[in-house]
Amino acid sequence: MTNKNDSTINDLGYYGQFGGAYIPEMLYPNVEQLRKRYLEIMYHPSFQRDFDRLLKDYVGRPSPLYFAEKLSKKYHTRIYLKREDLNHTGAHKINNTIGQILLAKELGKTRIIAETGAGQHGVATATVCALMDLQCVVYMGEVDIRRQAPNVARMRMLGAEVRPALSGSRTLKDATNEAIRDWINHPVNTHYIIGSVVGPHPYPDMVARFQSVISREMKEQLLQQTGRDYPDAIVACVGGGSNAAGAFYHYLEREEVDLYVVEAAGLGIKTGHSAATSVLGTDGIIHGSRTLLMQTEDGQIIEPYSISAGLDYPGIGPMHAHLIRSGRAKALSVTDEEALTAAFELTRLEGIIPALESAHAFAALDKMQHNPEATLVVNLSGRGDKDLDTYIKHLNQTDEPTR
Ligand SMILES: *Cc1c(COP(=O)(O)O)cnc(C)c1O
Repeated sequence: MTNKNDSTINDLGYYGQFGGAYIPEMLYPNVEQLRKRYLEIMYHPSFQRDFDRLLKDYVGRPSPLYFAEKLSKKYHTRIYLKREDLNHTGAHKINNTIGQILLAKELGKTRIIAETGAGQHGVATATVCALMDLQCVVYMGEVDIRRQAPNVARMRMLGAEVRPALSGSRTLKDATNEAIRDWINHPVNTHYIIGSVVGPHPYPDMVARFQSVISREMKEQLLQQTGRDYPDAIVACVGGGSNAAGAFYHYLEREEVDLYVVEAAGLGIKTGHSAATSVLGTDGIIHGSRTLLMQTEDGQIIEPYSISAGLDYPGIGPMHAHLIRSGRAKALSVTDEEALTAAFELTRLEGIIPALESAHAFAALDKMQHNPEATLVVNLSGRGDKDLDTYIKHLNQTDEPTR
């Protein structure tokens, strides 16, 4: 794994002014236990051995770093894809759930709860609960339950109970609220596996460390394939920011590597149907941390919108809020339409059907300056099986085959 002290976060869990742990008193014992113990547990040699073994034999890591020749030709630069879509369960989410289930066992917990948007984190959680024989309850917005039916079926088959969140926009933030409520009611036997670099400290740092395997592998793979252990730029989509955090982690202090986070603009930033938090958001507190979030002047959350359930979140992890506000990372935003076009293009050029979330990262390539000598890594966070219904609806309109 990574070095224990290798991080830009301070002891209280702040990245610059963002982060911290703003939690109700009833959650304090749980979060405090985690805060005190997570590093000691994660960096114990036997934990690392179990974690590395499961990542290798169960998840299928290392995920390949693939030189995308045709995509590179199109953009006149050298583009590599980090293939998180090839992981067991189809996305990067499993890296984190493997880590957290091992941690939950170490803490003596017998019941697991999780929130999910697209269902990818729910599936990844239900999967590790089946593997470790722990009870699993997944909260999911009612709207997402409808638009991600195959993942709901998968979770049920894996033995998880899927509970619909019926409040608000009935999407990811509402599912998160329900999960927090559950945790307050079951503080002793339950561990809450948060699916992204959000929530109270230590979650953002803990999840980033579990996902940092992505950039650890990238360093070795780039060295082998390009003779240099770093790229000139890394591009990743951001919902909460865990795949981006993992892809950036070992390069945070390498200023020669440009970092691009790609947010969902939905129907367009100014349409009122968007999830582009870094543009539309202001300082506030959501789900236990101080960060950028979309809110009204009196602090009510503005409902986010994106075609992609995994990016449909009104906040952004505190690490990314800090990276963007400090200028270390650049934020780009991509509309539903642009993401769909990019998904079809990647599929036809490289024979890879990306998740709708990941398609946002590819669409951002159109908004960047390219240099033929530069090496760029796009983090391909997940595969598109779960999005086929959406793609099929747009197949006739946008992309009839021409050959
Ligand atoms: C969940 C998900 C995302 C968004 O979550 P992050 O925490 O921002 O990575 C992106 N891509 C895929 C494929 C996902 O499943």
